[in-house]
Amino acid sequence: MTQPTCYRGRFAPTPSGPLHFGSLVAALGSYLDARAVGGEWLVRIEDIDPPRCPPGADSMILRQLEAFGLQWDGAVRWQHGRHDAYQQALDALAHQGLAYPCSCSRKQWQAFSVYPGWCRQGLSDATQPVAWRLRSDLAQRPVEWHDRLFGFQQFDPETLGDVILKRKDSLWAYQLAVVVDDAEQGITDIVRGFDLLDNTPWQRQLQIALALPEPRYLHLPLVVTPEGQKLSKQNLAPALADDERGIRHQLFQALLALDQALPSELSREPVTTQLHWAVTHWSVARLSPSAHRELPQEV
Ligand code: GLU
Repeated sequence: MTQPTCYRGRFAPTPSGPLHFGSLVAALGSYLDARAVGGEWLVRIEDIDPPRCPPGADSMILRQLEAFGLQWDGAVRWQHGRHDAYQQALDALAHQGLAYPCSCSRKQWQAFSVYPGWCRQGLSDATQPVAWRLRSDLAQRPVEWHDRLFGFQQFDPETLGDVILKRKDSLWAYQLAVVVDDAEQGITDIVRGFDLLDNTPWQRQLQIALALPEPRYLHLPLVVTPEGQKLSKQNLAPALADDERGIRHQLFQALLALDQALPSELSREPVTTQLHWAVTHWSVARLSPSAHRELPQEV
C-alpha cells in the first residue's frame, strides 16, 4: 500500500432524488478508495437547498447505499442544521475582504460568461436583497493542486468568476458548505465525479483563506448518456435497481465503469462478495484518466 492509512473519505450526495448509476459509480469509487487502505468512509447529506430536495429522498439514498453494501461509518451528517458554522466562515472571509454582498441579478449580467464583479467596490443597488460572493481575484491565485487521476491542475479562479457563497434567499451555496464540512469532519480524501473538478479551484481558495487543511483529490470519470450529458433527473436517469438480481448486475457494471479488472463470474455474486473482491483489488492505477464513461447499455 502506498497511501497512508490515516484516511477519512466521504460520499456527499445532494438529496434531489434517488441515486442513479452515475452516483453509484461515485459512491463506489470513494468507498473502495477508503476501504482499500482500511480508512473510514462517511456519508453526508448535502440538503442545503430544500426546494431541490423532495421529502424522503435522503432516506431513499441511505437505503440504496445499504442495498449495494456500501456501509458507512458513524452517524450520517446533514447540512441543514449547519447555519452557524457557515455564517462564521462567511464572516471570516468578509473580515479579510474576500467576500462581498452583491445585489446584481443574473439578467443584468447575462451578456457576460461570468459575473463581472460590479459590486466588488460597493453595492450596485442598496435597495435589493443581496447574495454573498467570493473575491476570486483577491484570494489565492493561481490555484494549483495534484489530482490523483488527472495529475497537476492549475486554474486561475478569477476566470471562473466570483462564485456565490450565500444566495439572495439566504440559502447557503455548495462551495462554502462543502469546504466547511469537509474540514470539520476531518476528511482527508475527496473522491467524486469529474464534473466537480472545476469547482475545486474555488474550494481550494476557500480552504486557504480559512486556514483549513488541504485534502487529497481524486476525480472519477463521469458517467454520461450517449449524447454526452451527465445523468440527472432532467434527462430522466433511472433510479438504481432495487431487486437482488438488478443490484448485483449494476454493482458489477459500476466496477467495470471504474476500470477494475473483474473476473466475469463475479457478476452474479452477492454484493458482499463483489465488494470484498473490489476492496482487495482496488487500483487507481487501472483507472483511465478520461473525463467520461458512457452509460452501459444494459443497466
Ligand atoms: N453534493 C454534491 C453533489 O451531489 C457533491 C459534493 C462533493 O462530492 O463535493 O453533486
